Amino acid sequence: MKIVIVGGVAGGASCAARLRRLDENAEILMVERGPYVSYANCGLPYHIGGVIEEEAKLLVASERTFREQFAIDVRTNCEAVSIDPKAKTIDLRDVVTGDIVKEPYDKLVLSPGAKSIRPPLPGIDLPGIFEVRTVPDARMIREWIERGTAYLTGMNSYSGIQMMRPKLRAVVVGGGFIGLETAENLVHRGFEVTLVEMSDQVMGPLDPEFARLVGGHLELNGMKLALGDGVAGFRQLENGSLEVDTQSGKAYPADVVIVALGVKPDTDLAKTADLEIGERGGIRTDDQMRTSDPDIFAVGDAIEVRDFMTDEWSLIALAGPANRHGRIAADVIAGRDSRFRGTQGTSICGLFDAAVAWTGIS
Ligand SMILES: Cc1cc2nc3c(=O)[nH]c(=O)nc-3n(C[C@H](O)[C@H](O)[C@H](O)COP(=O)(O)OP(=O)(O)OC[C@H]3O[C@@H](n4cnc5c(N)ncnc54)[C@H](O)[C@@H]3O)c2cc1C
Repeated sequence: MKIVIVGGVAGGASCAARLRRLDENAEILMVERGPYVSYANCGLPYHIGGVIEEEAKLLVASERTFREQFAIDVRTNCEAVSIDPKAKTIDLRDVVTGDIVKEPYDKLVLSPGAKSIRPPLPGIDLPGIFEVRTVPDARMIREWIERGTAYLTGMNSYSGIQMMRPKLRAVVVGGGFIGLETAENLVHRGFEVTLVEMSDQVMGPLDPEFARLVGGHLELNGMKLALGDGVAGFRQLENGSLEVDTQSGKAYPADVVIVALGVKPDTDLAKTADLEIGERGGIRTDDQMRTSDPDIFAVGDAIEVRDFMTDEWSLIALAGPANRHGRIAADVIAGRDSRFRGTQGTSICGLFDAAVAWTGIS
């Protein structure tokens, strides 16, 4: 049996490793659009902050580990571009050369994850504005901070008499957990951080009274909060630094801007196979991770899952469920009767020596 897995990070890598444990003879091909497989996205904010200093510490397993220890054919820089469900083939494009090859499959597993929400705001593509999603994103942010800031803060034109380096300024847009963790890490790096959030509170799923406690804790630790104010656009000033303009007419100066406005399921590939997409925008699967095509499975951030209290469809972009889905898909492909029992969206986030957690209906 030949199994092709699209996406080589949380759900995809878990699925590949479990499949090999269950079936020594299966032919397994895992393709990943980016340069790395099986890395810890969760560590990216901490790598930006320098808590995890070495990039290599983010990489859980390499392409070589999968090849040599699991006999899995791994192709990085390889993007799946379309699926022909009738012929049971998938087209794979080499990101470097642009060459396309067609691969047949008996079972296909989609774990393409989610895309960052990036609204078409004026100036959003200016240099110095980043998102935190992949290892290359974190590397770019670190390089920008390490190389670019002396220029951006005007240090290049300072006289030798001026001894004090001006404090670097960061604006983080979005008060969800990726925005908050990145903001915390930039505070650790010595930045003056302003967090701009459209709603009246940080951490949307929290009850307002708890969110207020979290907000107070962030401020006590040196973060500035600009709540209830959406971003209207970004501008580059003459000295190269940035300004974040908000809907209320305020302007926040910045040497670096992080946009963390949440994610949405990546369903581009699923749509080429005409798979059912739910009302929340994720790929629909049954409790065995099977999509509307019985030979195609989908897992992770790209799918809709049942909330096990309300039985309603929901989107949960977290690593725990993604890994679990990956293992269930592998079990089912290998003939086991595993099922996903749904989710209650439990999350825990550490911020400046405090832990914030929630679970259940929010
Ligand atoms: C900065 C950050 C911090 C996070 N922190 C936490 C945390 O603390 N706790 C937690 O539980 N979760 C956290 N998450 C979320 C967690 O990382 C995701 O929920 C999890 O990785 C989802 O797994 P996945 O397999 O669905 O997608 P991903 O792990 O994102 O993997 C999808 C992969 O598929 C590849 N891909 C997409 N389309 C194609 C294609 N057509 N062809 C080939 N490859 C393709 C992508 O390049 C990507 O590498 C964090 C995420 C980020 C970005």
